Amino acid sequence: MIHLQNVRFSYPRDSFALAVDDLKIPEGQHTAVIGPSGCGKTTLLRLVAGILPIEQGSINVQTLSVHEMSQNELQQFRIKNIGLVFQEFELLDYLTARENILLPYRVSSALLLDEAAQGRCETLAATAGIDHLLDRHPAEMSQGERQRVSICRALVTNPKIILADEPTGNLDPENQQKAVDLLKSEANRCEATLLMVTHEHDLLLNFERVINMGEAI
Ligand code: ADP
Ligand code: MG
Repeated sequence: MIHLQNVRFSYPRDSFALAVDDLKIPEGQHTAVIGPSGCGKTTLLRLVAGILPIEQGSINVQTLSVHEMSQNELQQFRIKNIGLVFQEFELLDYLTARENILLPYRVSSALLLDEAAQGRCETLAATAGIDHLLDRHPAEMSQGERQRVSICRALVTNPKIILADEPTGNLDPENQQKAVDLLKSEANRCEATLLMVTHEHDLLLNFERVINMGEAI
């Protein structure tokens, strides 16, 4: 369960303010987050991931109090629990698709790049239909392929919470549905909670719940 209570957040030197009075997301739920540009969707995902510190209130994930963690604890929390798909993919150009997918194992000494992890990379890439591209660099791939690499990277650590920020924004309708199918099937396999920001109304039928951040939450 993800539980936000009386959360208040604002950026320094910006008039934007986010207020979440009481938002509960049960474990394993597939939720879409919608709302106009600038309403705070990305900010909400960053708060849940503990990337941004709240000014007031509480954010609890399972039994953990995200708002009370030190930087070290937050880092461990993210590595163990969170899979993040960024709006702009954030792939490293000088790494191959395989190296990009396995990046969490390079940046964290808490994760062991063993055969099981290599195997998960291969299996995910096959499920995503990019297994033939694993030795290519991002510049040699289409937008849809790059996005699938970034989704595989978010999933390779078997996260309990998948936070996907407009992961289909640059894709055609067929690839949009494929990306959502991949996120949902992996969320089911890991029994993970899925929170996905989208502007695509056609995709909303895929979700058990829709949170509209254009309205009070
Ligand atoms: P959305 O994802 O719904 O489009 P965001 O959460 O990215 O919205 O942004 C919400 C508001 O906060 C916007 O008005 C944006 O300009 C502002 N904002 C976002 N990031 C920053 C930042 N790093 N510093 C200052 N203001 C920011
Ligand atoms: Mg955004």
